[in-house]
Formats: sequence, C-alpha cells, structure tokens
Amino acid sequence: MKKAIIIGGGVAGFTAGIYLRANGYDTLILEKNAVAGGACIGWERQGCYIDGCIHWLAGSNPSSPTYKIWRDTHAITHETKFFEQDDLMKMRHSDGTEFIYWTDLNKLEKELLALAPEDKKEIKRFIKLVRRFQKIDPPIDKPMELMNLFDLLKLAFTQGGDLYWVNKFSKLSARDYVQRFKNPYIRDAVQDLIAPHYNFMSLLYMLGHISGGDGGVPRGGSLAMIERMEKRYLDLGGRIRKGTLVTKINVENNVAKGVTLRNGEVLEADWVVATTPVEHTLVNLLENKYRNKEMDERLASVRNYPIYTYTTTVFKCPRRLADKSLSIKLRLSTPITINRPYSHVTFRNYIYDDSLKGSDEYCVIQATIHSDDDMFHWWNGVKAGGRYKQEKQRVAEEMLAIAKTLYPDVADELEVIDVVTPCTYQRYLNSRHGSFQGFIHTKRGKSLMQNGRIKGLKGFILAGQWIIQSGGLPAAGMSGRFAAQRICYTDKKKFKDF
Ligand SMILES: Cc1cc2nc3c(=O)[nH]c(=O)nc-3n(C[C@H](O)[C@H](O)[C@H](O)COP(=O)(O)OP(=O)(O)OC[C@H]3O[C@@H](n4cnc5c(N)ncnc54)[C@H](O)[C@@H]3O)c2cc1C
Repeated sequence: MKKAIIIGGGVAGFTAGIYLRANGYDTLILEKNAVAGGACIGWERQGCYIDGCIHWLAGSNPSSPTYKIWRDTHAITHETKFFEQDDLMKMRHSDGTEFIYWTDLNKLEKELLALAPEDKKEIKRFIKLVRRFQKIDPPIDKPMELMNLFDLLKLAFTQGGDLYWVNKFSKLSARDYVQRFKNPYIRDAVQDLIAPHYNFMSLLYMLGHISGGDGGVPRGGSLAMIERMEKRYLDLGGRIRKGTLVTKINVENNVAKGVTLRNGEVLEADWVVATTPVEHTLVNLLENKYRNKEMDERLASVRNYPIYTYTTTVFKCPRRLADKSLSIKLRLSTPITINRPYSHVTFRNYIYDDSLKGSDEYCVIQATIHSDDDMFHWWNGVKAGGRYKQEKQRVAEEMLAIAKTLYPDVADELEVIDVVTPCTYQRYLNSRHGSFQGFIHTKRGKSLMQNGRIKGLKGFILAGQWIIQSGGLPAAGMSGRFAAQRICYTDKKKFKDF
C-alpha cells in the first residue's frame, strides 16, 4: 500500500485524506496544532464558544456541485441543519441611515429602490446580475488537466457562458462598479459588503450563492463541521498526529521522500501533500529550493495580490439582545485607529445558533475590522516592540465603547473575552501576513487554479486554499479532492469516487 503524508489537518487536509483512503492509500495527517481544523475552527473562552469561521458555506445546497464534496467528507451529513439567513447584513451609516441586505432578491431590490429611486435602472441591472451568479459554480468534478475531450466539451456546453461573466467582472473592482450609481448610500452599501478593492465578480458570487439558497451556516458551527470530517477520515482508517510540526519536506534527487518533524523524527512516504499556506511550504518546508511561477508572481506583488486580515474583539453578552440583526456594519463618525484609521466595524452576533456551547446563558458578539497586509505588519511591529498586550487592550476598549452604543440595553454587561489579530493567524496557521484566506482576487491580479505540481519535484502535491483564487472552504475542499485525483492519475490508478 502506498503511503501519503498530508501536512495540515484543515479542510483541505481531511478532504485529501478521505479521498486518498477511498483509493487505498495509507494516509497520515500531520497537524501542528493540538486541535485539527486550521482556519475552520472554534474555541472556548469563559464558558462561551467562539466560532472562528463559517459565515456562509457555498455547497450547502444539494443542487450545488460542491455539495458532493461536503457530503463525501461528512462536512455535511443528512442530519446537518442549516441556518439560512434572511438578512445578510444591516449597514448603518454614521448619519443613522440604514439599509438591509436581504437575501431574498425581490426584497433587496425594493430596499435598494427605496434608498435610491434615482438609480432604478442600475439597481435592476445589479439584481439581474446577482441572479445570473446564483447559477455559476467552479468545476469541482476533476482538475482541468485531467479532463478528457468529452469532459471539456461538457464543461464548455454547460458552463462556457459563465466564463464571459466571470472574466468581465474579474477585471472590475467593487469600488469601480459602484461608480455607476448616483446615490452615495447605495455606492457605500454595495462596495462595503466586501473589501472595495476585491473584484466585483467575488461580490456577485457571494451574493448570488447566498441569495440562491447556497450559503447556509451549519448548526454547531465550524468546530462541529471539522469534527465530522475528522471522524469520517478516522472511520475510513486514516491516521492523524496532532501537535506535530513539520519543519522540512525531505527531497532526494528531486523526489519528495517524506518529512522531518520538529523533534528531529524523519517520516518516509511515497507522496507528500502540503495543504499548508503556500509561502510557508515553498520558503520554509522546501527551503526555497523549488519555485513555482504562479506563486512567485503572487508573492512578489502585494499590490496585485494582497491578502485579507482582520482584528476582532469578542464580547460575552449575558442575555439576548433586542436587536436581532445577525450582522451590522457600522460606518463610524469617529474612526478607530489600528495601523491606520478605520471607519467600518462589522458586528456579528451568534444568537442564531442555540446549539453552541454557552448559548443558553450567553450570547457571543464579534466586532471585526477588516484590512490587508499592512495591518499584519503593524501588529507584528507592535509585538516586536513589546506592546502587543497593551495595544490589544486599547483596541478592545475602543471597540467596547462602540459596542455599548450599538447595544444600549446591555451596555453595562458586555465583557471583552478575546481579541484576535493577524498575528494570531500567523502563529496558528503559519499563514502569509496573518491571512485566513488565500490571495485576494483584485482587478489587477490574474485568476488562479494552480495544478498542484511544482516543476522538477516528484512525489509532491500542493493543495489547500492558497492554490485556488481567493481561497475559502470550497477552494480548500476542491484542492483536497484534486490532490487525491492527481496522485491516482500519476500512479495510474482509476480514481474511485464515493
Ligand atoms: C474568521 C474566518 C471566517 C471565515 N469565513 C469563511 C466563510 O464564511 N466561508 C468560507 O468559505 N470560508 C471562510 N473562511 C476561510 C476558511 O476557513 C478557509 O478557507 C479554510 O478553512 C482553509 O482550509 P485549508 O485546509 O486550505 O487551510 P488551513 O485551514 O490553513 O489548514 C492548513 C493547516 O496546516 C497546519 N500547518 C501549518 N504549518 C504546518 C506545519 N509546518 N506542520 C504541520 N501543520 C502545519 C495549520 O495548523 C492548519 O491546520 C473563514 C476563515 C476565517 C478565519
């Protein structure tokens, strides 16, 4: 039986492991943290469960192609219940003007028209576009390079038209797009749903899927989802070692032969699959000896390929809130300064899932400021200067003051229970600049579907969210499935699907 070592016990690692087990490989996942999950995780503070991931899961709807991966890996089982959001987000402007992102597109259209009747024509166009994107999915069945003529023709026939829309709106940022609206509130409302420099296609994809019923949040949260995947993997006979840091991928004559662990232990394998963040894989684990053109291009240009970071303050609220909105994005009249002034904070309350630990007594609220590489560099500098704890406390206090104005009925009872920064993610995941997702898809960047191979290196496959633009859970799952298919192909084995 051929042996595969998979570095990383996140969504991509388990997905690769599950499909490789189904194809008769002896698999060992090596995960550096004590708990599996990577970016798909949840943790506990003061008796409360803090969910660290899923805001929406593309592939939660059985009609979505990605659903198959989630069912095969038990990320979703027939018992999994979903929270389907009615309102994706409430936007509150600093002057009090409010706008709700309904997931029902008819309601959303009405809301937009009430806000900006002068933009009627553009609003109708926007809603039409979102509807168009409800049906656009990435090809998840197999990687392009393994498709035969029949597969390619089928793809061209069924999804060829989608490419036009994907390409067209990939070259436009959300900020550029909103210039066609006259009304300033609507410009803000549309671009603020996502980072304004993200390409507009990503926004359409997200809105399309959620409004099309393919963005449910599984009850039990991210940790429960990863636990189901881990169980599935173990039930299939897969092995995992947690708390096991890989320091090197061992290569002999340009063939990956296994890995070296932090304790010096050497493990041998016929295949090494790295689901670790790609910069860490190339620079640290492969010691910069093997390069990949597509990745080099991305790593070299922060401008064209920025990453997504955030600083989150987590609050414990002793009782249920009067305002039931799931997410509120506030535009602040007085910005809060981290590495630079930020005028947006997104509050999300977890009241919707009463199966989460502590939810019978407390409600958890997370307040997040999204940013890019610069926020990481700033926190990193603060850490190096010995002021990390102090600055976290300052930010937490400022966020608490904002939270008190948003939730006046519980103002005196809100308690800060955690602060998460890009440094948290860098330490926890080994990710580039503390990112929790792959490279952002900007209008200047090229789309990415890396083929998992590193030129000149055999016995090795790259996987994980960093090889498919712009990362996220479907990209992680897809990359894990593709890794197994690529290995089977090279070993001349017919891929056995579930
Ligand atoms: C707050 C937040 C919200 C999110 N919301 C969504 C959402 O709503 N929808 C969505 O689709 N996606 C969302 N994501 C993104 C999603 O979580 C990730 O895309 C996905 O989990 C990535 O999985 P992965 O397996 O590719 O990578 P990772 O999760 O990064 O897994 C890689 C693993 O490798 C391990 N590792 C690293 N270095 C080593 C080493 N040297 N040795 C051993 N192990 C190592 C890490 O510990 C990690 O477990 C969110 C993420 C966050 C943080």
